[in-house]
Amino acid sequence: MTSTIDSPDTRVLHHWVGGKPLEGVSGRFSDVTDPATGAVTGYLPLASEEETAVAVAAAAAAFPAWRDTSLTRRTQILFRFRELLNERAPELAALITAEHGKVLSDAAGEVARGQEVVEFACGMPHLLKGSATENASTGVDVHSVRQPLGVVGIISPFNFPAMVPMWFFPVAIAAGNTVVLKPSEKVPSAALWIAELWSEAGLPDGVFNVVNGDKTAVDALLTSPDVKAISFVGSTPIARYIYETGTAHGKRVQALGGAKNHMVVLPDADLDLAADQAVNAGYGSAGERCMAISALVTVGDIADTLVAKIAERTRVLRTGDGRRSSDMGPLVTRAAQERVTGYVDAGEAAGATVVIDGRTGGFDADGDGFFVGPTLLDNVTTEMSVYTDEIFGPVLSVLRVGTYPEAVELINSNPYGNGTALFTQNGAAARRFQNEVEVGMIGINVPVPVPMAYYSFGGWKNSLFGDTHAHGTEGVHFYTRAKVVTTRWPHTATGVDLGFPTNS
Ligand code: NAD
Repeated sequence: MTSTIDSPDTRVLHHWVGGKPLEGVSGRFSDVTDPATGAVTGYLPLASEEETAVAVAAAAAAFPAWRDTSLTRRTQILFRFRELLNERAPELAALITAEHGKVLSDAAGEVARGQEVVEFACGMPHLLKGSATENASTGVDVHSVRQPLGVVGIISPFNFPAMVPMWFFPVAIAAGNTVVLKPSEKVPSAALWIAELWSEAGLPDGVFNVVNGDKTAVDALLTSPDVKAISFVGSTPIARYIYETGTAHGKRVQALGGAKNHMVVLPDADLDLAADQAVNAGYGSAGERCMAISALVTVGDIADTLVAKIAERTRVLRTGDGRRSSDMGPLVTRAAQERVTGYVDAGEAAGATVVIDGRTGGFDADGDGFFVGPTLLDNVTTEMSVYTDEIFGPVLSVLRVGTYPEAVELINSNPYGNGTALFTQNGAAARRFQNEVEVGMIGINVPVPVPMAYYSFGGWKNSLFGDTHAHGTEGVHFYTRAKVVTTRWPHTATGVDLGFPTNS
């Protein structure tokens, strides 16, 4: 495969429609940057409403033949896609690092977690099996099937350029739908690379399309009568908008939003383990994960000891270009960098103790990248904006409470409910926590409890609008609709009877 994505020179990107690149003609562009250097590396065309309609039309045209393609053939293509991705995952990881900034090992990890969903979707023949009942009534049989919806739209955020789209499209495609993906305009190259890989795997033209753009393209997808379902991941205000607009236009919508994830440490926990995991979960991917731990809740009198252990581990982290031997890369944009340092300023002004200050420091990179070092704030309270808002940066805030019920009350009062973790050696406490806490994904001594592909990913409250989570059997249900068929093959005429049919 010859990649149409050149790197690292500045280039004009494109859309991907009907199995080939499509030049943008709207005349609107946004810059793509390398966050480690601050350099502009590409110009992304932002689709107009008409260009988005062209992508939807290509997907709609491809749907009838793809829906009727046998499950055997469909899954053969998925297996081929999996093999190609296994061979070439480092290329995709490099593209992710170049536009997102996360370190290469982290980018490779995201590709691997996305690949798990491809592997799950390879089992679609089993997942789509319906049920059958013989002789439900005398001589009457009943069976159910699940059928694809048609064209589905996927709108994804910047922080997982490959994994988040892969939560959705393998399941959607394997189930017989066709896809229009609108990636984040900050990180478009991964989606275009994936589109080329699908072609190489033998996916028919038009089954997987990429339209690059902003609100204009998103609104065109949300209002198009040919788009039957929308899967969205991003910030809560946009997720709410997507849900409300998409459902108002008659679509099925799952819209995953922002997060504020708490890690509770009980007094009996192994504090070295808790400190290791708090650092990993707080600063991995520079905190730009929807499952990052941003609020550490200490219970009882362990706070001073635990904060000291976390600080000791944090001080030695290396922040720099993700292509070098860094532990943590930059933030995605200059605006993100400024927003995060602004929150640290506000926290300090409100009385938080700045234990480790990432606002300044030596960063291992050339140029003028968007760096903020790992930052540890102690004595944070629930009124401070560092706690109330999703910061989405490498800032770990420590909140001190006296008892377990106070910790649960804190989490349950928070408007978000994506992930949470409890660190303890007490099974009864863990059992009580998982029962009482109002959050969709829970880790017991696991700080970032991202479910495996055969379970479903999704939060509660303001972290998800809609009632279906991503991938797993919920994903299969989202991308299919059920039919129930009742059958009789009478041997003789039954006679006319206008009464309501009852069983006999
Ligand atoms: P974002 O909401 O800014 O953008 C997400 C997508 O929506 C992008 O494709 C963007 O182009 C589009 N968009 C932005 N503004 C829009 C508008 N006004 N109208 C229509 N579309 C618009 O999110 P982001 O900054 O790219 O990603 C970070 C956010 O995503 C964080 O809040 C994070 O918690 C969240 N996130 C959530 C999950 C989850 O599973 N719940 C996973 C990853 C990221």
